[in-house]
Amino acid sequence: MPELPEVEIHARNLRRWLVGRRVEQCQVVDSSLVVPETAGELQAALQGRRFDGVIRRAKYVLCCLDDLTLVVHLRMTGRFVLDSYAAGPATRPTRLTLLLDNGTRVRFEDRRRFGRVWLVPAGKETELSELRSLGPDALLDLDGHGALEKACRVSRRSVKALLMDQHVIGGIGNICAAEILFRAGVHPATPASDLDACSVSRIARAIPRFLEWAIEAQSRKELIYLGEKGAENVFSLYRRAGEPCPACGTPIRRTVVAGRGTYWCATCQPEPAAAPTDGRRSAG
Ligand SMILES: [Zn+2]
Repeated sequence: MPELPEVEIHARNLRRWLVGRRVEQCQVVDSSLVVPETAGELQAALQGRRFDGVIRRAKYVLCCLDDLTLVVHLRMTGRFVLDSYAAGPATRPTRLTLLLDNGTRVRFEDRRRFGRVWLVPAGKETELSELRSLGPDALLDLDGHGALEKACRVSRRSVKALLMDQHVIGGIGNICAAEILFRAGVHPATPASDLDACSVSRIARAIPRFLEWAIEAQSRKELIYLGEKGAENVFSLYRRAGEPCPACGTPIRRTVVAGRGTYWCATCQPEPAAAPTDGRRSAG
């Protein structure tokens, strides 16, 4: 599932492909992609408009067109692909295509069809409840560190659940949380309020370092997500149970924390004395 690094790579690709380009035609291949407008309304609204910017907010991509913003959440398997008109008809798993004035075509592919697209007036993006409820962006917002410290002080949930909660800090998912906690030397099931100031600070420092590394390590024109055919696992622990820890050689372990499979090293990330109180709130 794409998390902040993968969404950032898509946003950077889209910036190159879309900005300055006019939409000759928008085709919604799968109408369930669009909420709450109809496919016809979205197609008509985009026709003839020009893209003037692409930004990322947590796991959302915002494509700005004149006075409208196209907001996209990739969810499980969504990805943007660039090809040309000559590449033939857009077949499954394409859900939306944008034919541009330079003869290129940008497609939104989404095998599992959980991705969603919203159209909002420019400047009214935060009226969308999905964006309004987001915490500070894990990569861009300087107050993310403070938000994390504050949330840690008052929560008995596991630190992993807290990192994945999009209301606390936006953009971190299951893979990023495991890798960040490994870099910080903190066990994922540690109750957040048991963390000392040093540990919280190590996590806060590890967040942008890991995210920047993961963006760099995976940047390419067509992203293949872990679990898909041809995917390359660039991560230190994720899906590597039984393999030696890259820092100390101890076999990597897998357990379930905050309802999701997680990976950790028993030497680098000692188990906490107390159990967290996960399950009262869902992790985003
Ligand atoms: Zn280790």
